[in-house]
Amino acid sequence: MARVWNFSAGPSALPINVLKKAQEQMVEYPGAGMSVMEMSHRSKSFTEIITTAEANLRSLMNIPDSYKVLFLQGGASSQFAMVPLNLLAEGETADYINTGRWSTMAIKEGQKLRYAQVIASSEDENFSYIPKITKSDCTPGAKYLHFTENNTIYGTTFYSVPETDARIVTDMSSSILSREVDVNQYDLIYAGAQKNMGPAGVTVVIVREELLGMADSSVPTMFNYQTHAEKDSLFNTPPTFGIYMLGLVCEELMNMGGLAEVERINRAKAELLYNTIDESDLFSGTVRVEDRSITNIPFVLPTDELNAAFIAEATDRGIANIKGHRSVGGMRASIYNGVPMEGVAFLVDFMKEFEKKNK
Ligand code: PMP
Repeated sequence: MARVWNFSAGPSALPINVLKKAQEQMVEYPGAGMSVMEMSHRSKSFTEIITTAEANLRSLMNIPDSYKVLFLQGGASSQFAMVPLNLLAEGETADYINTGRWSTMAIKEGQKLRYAQVIASSEDENFSYIPKITKSDCTPGAKYLHFTENNTIYGTTFYSVPETDARIVTDMSSSILSREVDVNQYDLIYAGAQKNMGPAGVTVVIVREELLGMADSSVPTMFNYQTHAEKDSLFNTPPTFGIYMLGLVCEELMNMGGLAEVERINRAKAELLYNTIDESDLFSGTVRVEDRSITNIPFVLPTDELNAAFIAEATDRGIANIKGHRSVGGMRASIYNGVPMEGVAFLVDFMKEFEKKNK
């Protein structure tokens, strides 16, 4: 079977060059006489792999030396707990903005472990927009403000960092490496790798060094950022193959011209799809225009029957994982870096053909 165009929200399509390079090196990593999956995480080859992966990510995102980069496990979901455990002492407060399912989960965990305050939410309109806040909405003395930069399910994005005097913590799982960001604007960024950085299994945390060592002694060793920072992510066995793949993905994006060029391509892909939706009499978008994501694009047809027919016919054509999340319905195209313009053009052509047939 040939490769399909994969619009999955995560794990997602990876750049084909990365898969081919991994295939080339699968059985014998150059100079090691074994695969990456078989080597010790303390070996010379793996030291080179993890050092290169971190250097590539730092170079791509322009991460200042005052930040630590950690390669952890447990997914972004573990960060919902690690963030409050590391940044809040008993009795301290953090502010959260609720923009959908993943924010809600982060809030629940924050409330379970410490004191998390919801200061804004877009739940009133099924999370179809990004609430705008000002400093006056924030809780005086709050230690950090948490928001989900890109809402994978609903297809909304924060294009600017909300105003607050608190530290800024963001879940970048579905937008990291999709566009240029100024890391200095954030105090802690976390993201699961399985959308734009590699396979599932690695979770990246980018944290200002001054925020390390704040967790109290009751925090389990593995949940303390300091543990991993002190040992350069080698306190225990890290997700070695995932880190290797993340290094390859970053190398590929550097070869493409870095995040400025990657962003230009992603904006062009999103524009093509949004224009098709906006010019259509049949398809419609579900998100406030200024908050539209460039990585996750939900769209719907007027009836459940048409949605089901579109998904079935698209699947037959080799358009995979186009079904929307049940909380929005319809379709969702996740167009991460692994989906090239050619894939989006293929989807758009099919949408136009479907519209003609179903006028
Ligand atoms: N945050 C966001 C924005 C996500 O999209 C997801 C996964 N879809 C998660 C968190 C949860 O990530 P994980 O499965 O890595 O725990």
